[in-house]
Amino acid sequence: CGIVGYVGGQSALDVVLAGLKRLEYRGYDSAGVAVLADGGLAAAKKAGKLGNLEKELADRPLPAGGTGIGHTRWATHGGPTDANAHPHLDNAGRVSVVHNGIIENFAALRAELAERGHELASETDTEVVAHLLAESFSSCGDLAEAMRQVCRRLEGAFTLVAVHADAPDVVVGARRNSPLVVGVGEEEAFLASDVAAFIAHTREAIELGQDQVVEARRDGVTVTDFDGAPAEVRPYHVDWDASA
Ligand code: GLU
Repeated sequence: CGIVGYVGGQSALDVVLAGLKRLEYRGYDSAGVAVLADGGLAAAKKAGKLGNLEKELADRPLPAGGTGIGHTRWATHGGPTDANAHPHLDNAGRVSVVHNGIIENFAALRAELAERGHELASETDTEVVAHLLAESFSSCGDLAEAMRQVCRRLEGAFTLVAVHADAPDVVVGARRNSPLVVGVGEEEAFLASDVAAFIAHTREAIELGQDQVVEARRDGVTVTDFDGAPAEVRPYHVDWDASA
């Protein structure tokens, strides 16, 4: 329902949580975050309000890092439980993904992954994406390219944002029939389902087009279509007053 991703010099956890708060008006039933730190990936997720997640984070703090993602979920596939909350991880716990929308062909993809030995831990349509990304990344070694390969296999509506422990300082996103906006700051970048999530940090935004993938790093963003062809970006200045 609400998505925030961050890469930069600030605490990714703080930026992502504040961004999710700005998106609270959309309504949601669970929330979660993942950050890259110390060469690994750490995640926390909880059913219920953001306050439940914050309590979990107070009890079991995540290590600090400058790359992270977060999600507030409006359940469509699988009830609002901790296990079904996003982010979803692959079995090695190296890749983490958040998703808005519905992957229509998830059942076929689940069956295919199970045949290859993947163990799925949730009832969501989303989790297949984490496992497919892990497979693609291990063969191509590039998270944006892995995202393009996976997106070509997905049917339905999706905004996806992902990080991989072996791709530090990179956040990738993709969209089809669901919005994704990129915020470009000084040595930092934001991905979100709504500009409200990052307006406190930057007003330079790029609206991702249909069937596009974005790779965000501290020093800039690269946008392509699902086949890897460079895409024309449409930067704009957000001039409305976010506090109104
Ligand atoms: N279909 C996904 C789920 O049920 C994403 C829902 C959403 O857009 O929050 O987990």
